[in-house]
Amino acid sequence: MSEAIERPASGAPPWEYASAPESTDIVRLDDRYGLFIGGEFVEPKSGKWFATISPSTEETLAEVAEADVTDVALAVDAARDAAPAWRGLAPAERAKYVFRIARQLQERAREFAVLESMNGGKPIKESRDVDIPLAAAHFFYYAGWADKLEYAFPGRGTPEPVGVAGQIIPWNFPLLMAAWKLAPALAAGNTAVLKPAETTPLTALLLAEVIQEAELPPGVVNIVTGAGETGAALVDAQVDKIAFTGSTEVGKIIRRSTAGSGKRLTLELGGKAANIVFEDAPIDQAVEGVINGIFFNQGHVCCAGSRLLVQEPVFDALLGKLKDRLQTLRVGDPLDKNTDVGAINSRAQLEKIEELVESGVGEGAEIYQPECLLPERGFWFRPTLFTGVSQSHRIAREEIFGPVLSILTFRTVDEAVEKANNTPYGLSAGIWTEKGSRILHMAQRLRAGVVWANTFNRFDPASPFGGYKESGFGREGGLHGLEPYLTFDGGAP
Ligand code: ADP
Repeated sequence: MSEAIERPASGAPPWEYASAPESTDIVRLDDRYGLFIGGEFVEPKSGKWFATISPSTEETLAEVAEADVTDVALAVDAARDAAPAWRGLAPAERAKYVFRIARQLQERAREFAVLESMNGGKPIKESRDVDIPLAAAHFFYYAGWADKLEYAFPGRGTPEPVGVAGQIIPWNFPLLMAAWKLAPALAAGNTAVLKPAETTPLTALLLAEVIQEAELPPGVVNIVTGAGETGAALVDAQVDKIAFTGSTEVGKIIRRSTAGSGKRLTLELGGKAANIVFEDAPIDQAVEGVINGIFFNQGHVCCAGSRLLVQEPVFDALLGKLKDRLQTLRVGDPLDKNTDVGAINSRAQLEKIEELVESGVGEGAEIYQPECLLPERGFWFRPTLFTGVSQSHRIAREEIFGPVLSILTFRTVDEAVEKANNTPYGLSAGIWTEKGSRILHMAQRLRAGVVWANTFNRFDPASPFGGYKESGFGREGGLHGLEPYLTFDGGAP
């Protein structure tokens, strides 16, 4: 006979997990990393270096070069020099290189996962099960298109590569974003200069090693590290296309500086997604989807379900279950295999989250945070729920990019649509209901690039991803993601 397990009043589990840290022995870090230009690591002409740290311990992991305008120009020159031979290669041969990158990522998956968690603070179970496998899947997927480009866009004419792509990525999915950018560009016959985010350069630099091992011709991929000034130098350089993922604020700057330059542009920017739970939703499944929607990757996700819209009759039941579930989330060491919520990526991001959460309290919303001990060093934020949120509150309008959920209610389908679309963003949305016709009805009305039904945060290389309005334009993934890297019959987009 089993005894009833008593839960403490807090709702936390009645037992503790033993710690289960993943070893970091597999990662071999150099003291310093140069720029990856023309197939080799070179010293920066700028003579400048900066430290990259672990956000969970604040320890310095390595020094990384800071590329200036001259360094960026050298990288773009290398990409331009490599372009004719790369685009001239038989497509099936080009595919082999891209496949090799995918295979190498799979072979070195554990090393990449550990390094990603060390440098970015995300839980190892996410870097191991999501980031790295999906990054490899993107290279596999686009490698498959390399020799089928002429069949991919029927009636559009002969596809040609755009030329040299400048690609700027954020810190929330460092390797995965590099894969989203590089895989379609390379498969379509372009060469590239990639700039990782300043807080998370290390897996991109490990990818440079993989690119060397895969014997890509020198200059086909170049990687320049640095912060916003390096990114701005890349935008202004002699590139044919800019692909940017990051904040709406920087996206607007880039749009202004590329206007009239003839450079192609795709922007994947911020979001404030509505995750909408109807009264007939499978409630336990919805709870898991809501939790995943906002606490996956500490909420550092542009498509995070950061606004929960709940139909009034199930509000109390759902809130009770969400609070219980929050008590079971394990916050702490990203390298522990049982950790659910890791470290906030940087001190600057932590301060931004704290400021917005204070504004929520100040504007009169009610805050709920579980009791959980946070490590002393590093950057941490408790999983947070806000109720009593009104549409005018900053926490309902602005992207927090942290583990903070704003909960609003609605009565009718029309009200749900109205509230969900009442945002300058339009990247993603979620619908939870048993009713198939309601899913279709809602999906047609939500102004969001991706609408998930009875699930959230699902990604697949074959499925396009991108935004409306201030979430940007252009799609990544699938054929839609290939198109921005091609021109048809001599330049018509
Ligand atoms: P976040 O607010 O999420 O950190 P950012 O938009 O600031 O996002 O950063 C995303 C990427 O854009 C990073 O690689 C960053 O270095 C780069 N970046 C920042 N400012 C600029 C700029 N003015 N021009 C080009 N790239 C920039």
